[in-house]
Amino acid sequence: DVSAASSARPTPMMEQYLEIKTANPDSLLFYRMGDFYEMFFADAEAASRALGIALTKRGKHLGEDIPMCGVPVDRANDYLQRLIAFGFRVAVCEQTEDPKEAKKRGGKSVVRRDVVRLVTPGTLTEDALLEPRRANLLAALVRGRGASGGVRFGLAHVDVSTGAFAVTEVAADGLAPALARLEAAEVLVPDALVEELRDQLAETRAAVTPAPRELVDPARAEARLSAHFGVATTDGFGALTKPELAAAAAIVGYLERTQLASRPPLSRPVREGRGEIMEIDAATRANLELTRRLSGEREGSLLDAVDRCVTAGGSRLLGMRIAGPLLRPEAIARRHDAVAAFVEAPDLRRAVRAALASAPDLARAAQRVAFGRGGPRDLAAIRDALAAAEGLGARLAALAGAPEEVTAIAEALASADHALGRELAATLGPDLPLLKRDGGFVRAGSDAELDATRALRDESRKVIAQLQAAYADATEIRTLRIKHNNVLGYFIEAPQAHGERLLKAPHGETFVHRQTMAGAMRFTTTELGDLERRIGEAGDAALRIELDTFEQLAAHVTEGWAGLRATADALDALDVAAGLAEVAIAENHVRPHVDDSLDFRLEGARHPVVEVALRAGGKPFVPNDVDLSAPGAEGGLIQLVTGPNMGGKSTYLRQAALCAVLAQAGAFVPAASAHIGAVDRLFSRVGAADDLARGRSTFMVEMVETAAILNSAGPRSLVILDEIGRGTATFDGLSIAWATIEHLHETNRCRSLFATHFHELTALARRLERLRNATVRVAEWKGEVVFLHEVAAGVADRSYGVQVAKLAGLPASVVRRAKAVLDELEAADRASPVERIIDELPLFAAARRVAEEGPDPTVEALDAIDPDALTPREALDALYRLKNLR
Ligand code: ADP
Repeated sequence: DVSAASSARPTPMMEQYLEIKTANPDSLLFYRMGDFYEMFFADAEAASRALGIALTKRGKHLGEDIPMCGVPVDRANDYLQRLIAFGFRVAVCEQTEDPKEAKKRGGKSVVRRDVVRLVTPGTLTEDALLEPRRANLLAALVRGRGASGGVRFGLAHVDVSTGAFAVTEVAADGLAPALARLEAAEVLVPDALVEELRDQLAETRAAVTPAPRELVDPARAEARLSAHFGVATTDGFGALTKPELAAAAAIVGYLERTQLASRPPLSRPVREGRGEIMEIDAATRANLELTRRLSGEREGSLLDAVDRCVTAGGSRLLGMRIAGPLLRPEAIARRHDAVAAFVEAPDLRRAVRAALASAPDLARAAQRVAFGRGGPRDLAAIRDALAAAEGLGARLAALAGAPEEVTAIAEALASADHALGRELAATLGPDLPLLKRDGGFVRAGSDAELDATRALRDESRKVIAQLQAAYADATEIRTLRIKHNNVLGYFIEAPQAHGERLLKAPHGETFVHRQTMAGAMRFTTTELGDLERRIGEAGDAALRIELDTFEQLAAHVTEGWAGLRATADALDALDVAAGLAEVAIAENHVRPHVDDSLDFRLEGARHPVVEVALRAGGKPFVPNDVDLSAPGAEGGLIQLVTGPNMGGKSTYLRQAALCAVLAQAGAFVPAASAHIGAVDRLFSRVGAADDLARGRSTFMVEMVETAAILNSAGPRSLVILDEIGRGTATFDGLSIAWATIEHLHETNRCRSLFATHFHELTALARRLERLRNATVRVAEWKGEVVFLHEVAAGVADRSYGVQVAKLAGLPASVVRRAKAVLDELEAADRASPVERIIDELPLFAAARRVAEEGPDPTVEALDAIDPDALTPREALDALYRLKNLR
């Protein structure tokens, strides 16, 4: 234990270290010593293991060697990135005074040090630590009560790398999907809730940071937010609820704690409308591979397939849109209008994309500069982005009849801070160092004093030569020289014979004698002394002027920060619209019609990822239709898809879901036509046997997830179930799949696609009016099975499992034997009980009663009770009421 009291007194440095370490027990401490950050004790052991760097020793503590390792300051970012990826937090402790000061204090004084920043996964700003095309969010949640007394969670999130800040409120069952959508890097969770919310939090990839009470205390929220934003009250933020305020304040408080030395600028918390975003839980996201593959990488995801953005900011925005598709048809149509505008105008699209390609990551660059972490290249990024914005604004403003979103973008770009852009262009030079302390970034000719100073530094020789010539002229001593040595510095040397002359008038005033050598005399002058000092100082002075200039520019960036953010947002939105138009043209996507109906009709739909993969292998993708509309039924159809393995069932199911996501995210869809009644919740589950990649392929998980769907899907939902029930014995699995379909049909009534290899289920179509059978077509050719990947109405006549096994190269003897067994089984199957059950077993009884007689009053009364919201007295009353219902 590093904080243990020591009898053998530690060195003053170790004392300082231990004090700082004790104050930061949860973080690795990067302790600055010269050109290194050093780590000691357990930190050193952990870091050396994680980073694969040498563990050494330094001195002793309590009689034991102190383990130590270090990383060079220059390369600290690389190491930080790796440590953060391993889940560490790092406290960066810097020297906060010049070591000379400590020396002056004398004795055993150590240089003052302090933690200037805690590096955590959710608070990164450096490009080296971030993925350019992915937002890096810090989220905070706080539990409270909604207006009606139920449990509500305030959920705030910020991207510290851009300053985008938003809040929302969700019901208890909406928390996990909301967290899944954000894919935050780090979530602040009140201490007291960490255990209770373990399951919900486990579904996110986020690092969970327990927040002490004080940080999430709703009573302090208002004051903390007002203070941060320098306002008298938060009323101006719009009507935020208590839990929303508390969550937003937790973020602000946490940033104050972690970013000690400076404050990141934040936009005012924008309230995300509730009920405006499609709810998609973590399992569905993972299964549909919306923004990353099951294995984690972005490549091969839906997002990757449709991302043609030319800027990182555009890709980040598209990622957020795919992760959170909209619900309101007008808002969706607004986005489609913008995409359509660029689909219809190819020249404009090309020009816009070319201009955007020269606009670097404005949001992150501006944030770093305003945060005091910027460098010359960040200023240049702002310059270039503003130049692009100016050109684009003019070009878009000239468009006649542009749709609303494009007009809004044009206006935002037109009002960008062009003055700042011009100031940066006039000030910054062509070759920019990464770090401002390296200097050389201010353009020659932009500052006369700097030019003179640099001239002095760079042309000292020339300046000296000029002075020498001037003195030679004035004294008429042709052999007069200005020389330099380490003892005298610069001096004037004249031959002895002439030198004597310089001691007398008129030169005696100017020339001061320094030394007499054999045959020569040495002098100095005030002018030469000044020149020498100025040459010596010129380097420093030039840098100082440059740093002042930098601070001035940075101050202007900070003043204009909100405007720069608006410009960045407009550039991002433009990139997304033009990029989606680009992919729509290249991949033949069509504008979907999204409305408030419960229709779902796709013609010639394709799977955007599989299609591209097949094309790469020279194979065509077979488009298919999907129709889940059941006009007048206050719900949708269930399509039951049967057919052999490898026939294309999963692909068919997923492409329907992906089209809904794309359409509602504001993109065009891979189909010939699409009409989608806005989907409010999307569910997708894969049977246990397919679930191995997630590393938790248990039947139990499958059932828990299926239960979640059956308990929460409503008429507006879209449900995709792929091979549910196959993780258990045949009859078990069949029965579960059967009952699930009945429940979907009678109770959830949602549009559903259900793929199964249980042929028995197709008989259900006789009884369930909104169930349709479909099958993936297969042809046989010379005894071989050929998958046509065509989905057609009807039932597969055979399962072809044996043929697939043959294709896969099972030994011929095994295939022959399997065929014989199959024939026997099929003969026996004619007496199967399934046919009888279909006609005789009462249909999903409870559900039917609900449908016919209305819900059970006892169940309704029970549902109405929220145990968390009751006083003991109310609880007792409720109990009596329930008893009376019997
Ligand atoms: P299933 O779920 O029936 O086992 P999959 O959907 O996994 O089958 O499809 C198996 C393979 O068939 C896919 O990997 C893909 O290569 C190919 N495939 C699926 N659908 C199509 C299609 N519509 N057109 C062309 N190839 C397809």
